[in-house]
Amino acid sequence: MKSVSLISLISLVSIAAAQLQPPRPQDNLYLHVNSAWLDATAMPADRVSHSAFSEITDRTETDLRAIIEQLAATSPAPGTPARQIVDLYTSVADPKYVEALGATPLRAELDRIEAMRTMRDVAAEAGRLSQFAVGGPFEGSVGVDPRNPSRLVVRLSQGGNLLPDREYYLSDTAAFVELRRKYEHYLVTIFTLAGRPDPAAGAKAALAVETALARGEWAPTAAAPEPPARALTLTRMAVEFPGFDWQGWARPQGVDRVEDILVLHPSYFATLSKLTQSVPIDSWKAWLAARHITALAPYLSAPFVDARFEFFGRELTGQAAPREHWKRGVGLVNTYLGDAIGRLYAQQRFPAGAERRVEALGATIVAAFKDAIRASDWMSVAAKNEAVAKLSALSIKIGAPSRWRDYGALVVKADDLLGNIQRAKMFDTAYRMQRVSAPLDRREWNTTPQTANAFYNPSQNEIVLPAAILQAPLYDAAADDAANYGGIGAIIGHELAHAFDSRGRYVDSRGLSRDWWKPEDVAGFSARASGLVAQFNAYQPIDGIRVDGVRTFQENLGDLIGLSIAHRAYRLSLKGRPAPVVGGVTGDQRLLLRWAGIWRTKTRDDYQRHQLYSSTYAPAEYRANGPASNVEAFYEAFGVREGDQMFRPPNMRIKIW
Ligand SMILES: [Zn+2]
Repeated sequence: MKSVSLISLISLVSIAAAQLQPPRPQDNLYLHVNSAWLDATAMPADRVSHSAFSEITDRTETDLRAIIEQLAATSPAPGTPARQIVDLYTSVADPKYVEALGATPLRAELDRIEAMRTMRDVAAEAGRLSQFAVGGPFEGSVGVDPRNPSRLVVRLSQGGNLLPDREYYLSDTAAFVELRRKYEHYLVTIFTLAGRPDPAAGAKAALAVETALARGEWAPTAAAPEPPARALTLTRMAVEFPGFDWQGWARPQGVDRVEDILVLHPSYFATLSKLTQSVPIDSWKAWLAARHITALAPYLSAPFVDARFEFFGRELTGQAAPREHWKRGVGLVNTYLGDAIGRLYAQQRFPAGAERRVEALGATIVAAFKDAIRASDWMSVAAKNEAVAKLSALSIKIGAPSRWRDYGALVVKADDLLGNIQRAKMFDTAYRMQRVSAPLDRREWNTTPQTANAFYNPSQNEIVLPAAILQAPLYDAAADDAANYGGIGAIIGHELAHAFDSRGRYVDSRGLSRDWWKPEDVAGFSARASGLVAQFNAYQPIDGIRVDGVRTFQENLGDLIGLSIAHRAYRLSLKGRPAPVVGGVTGDQRLLLRWAGIWRTKTRDDYQRHQLYSSTYAPAEYRANGPASNVEAFYEAFGVREGDQMFRPPNMRIKIW
């Protein structure tokens, strides 16, 4: 026994030593940069993953709380945006009055659901509840019309189930079978809490409907593009997908006033049409009740909040504790009064000078991207010209919008959380539908300044960089250009790459839907793309579960292009001068170290597994190392050689542009 404990002692010591000594960049760039952070950082209990991005989100959240508390201290007058913000926040942050209500706030809607007699009633009720964002047996959204980029269109797509992905309903692996058992238990719990008769039968029925819908979903099987969307009038939909009352569903939301609807994944709607014939009405009732209760549970009394959290938080993602009330308060203010609070946030927290510096950096990234495309050895001249034209037409929105949304007509009460949510959702639905009928305003932002993310909008050919994303380590006012090219520069490059991925590629420089690639462009691209798929397919973060190189392809492509273009842009920004060496670290090294640093992430195992099955993003370590191991600059900057763990033979290094 003694020798055993000695051996374990030795191995403990060597593990500790290994943690103190991070790997060399040549062996693992990500761990070289991030080991110290990973060791020193604890996973927050209310998170399933913690990263540089969530650190930025946390900082922003704290800033927003401070702004709200400042407003509250001034006792703002009724009817002002400040009063709305304070009242919405108070209705969540101090939820005692909600407890006394129990299931009462659900009663009226559940009675209406129970009173449904026909499939017609189901469609009408689903349409009515869609105003509160509960939805039908599919997902609805509003976006730019690909046939006419100067207007918006209503889009319907597959989905609308409560579990994250079709695999969750269909896979026979033990983990999914067990999750479905727990999901059914969750459904029984909420039906019991809501006082629904025969909760066990209801749970089985709701799960059966969702499983049948999941079976009809289109699943990505290869790098092939999605089946094309179809534009259909409601009348035409009634012919093609009979059994569901499309008019009845559309009317309550004002969708019946639009010319036509863009139907994504048409085969899914054919399945839905068949199910309307075969699924009994009682099953639809249970299904809709489950959706409605789940949607409202976060705004009801503690038993509902807890039941939802136990399954969707703890079981599904491994989250250890629910979010604190103040964080939920900030979250709801962000969601429903986003521009009102965003305006104050941008005024107070967007550093002066950041806009100009990021604008200059963005312009250099675009210039470098054009150079890279012109220098490409596989793209046709015609495609190169269109790609360069598309880059010339690109706009970059930085910081905050110049016009703000008016929430004046929205009624907010400090003691009516559920009412606030329902009114706010209806207010949003009306706002979206009014935008569908009006011409598109390109100055409008589809996100708020306090959103810690960056976006590429394919239909408007624009990149949006909200104020909140322009924080360290992504944008670091104190750092030199090399670090900022490796941070926000690579993020801009990533977003730009989406202009040329399997969605962006079908939109031309004027915003029209059109495939402007020749067969030789497609062949050249695919040859390179397949290498990237294979590279990521080989990564295995959890025993027995590999990264899905196909599902994560677009984002991996964005990362690879983002890093390559950021490096090219950094070189361009030097205008032939040598890069400064800072503390013995070269410019290229600083750029690559920052690149690896922005991906620092801790993830709970359950969530990691969930992500590996459903996310379009690869785990952070591979997002850092995968692209780096493909770019020549990494080999030069750190003298990477055969035998080093990150080494890929030159003929395996993937270069798109
Ligand atoms: Zn992306």
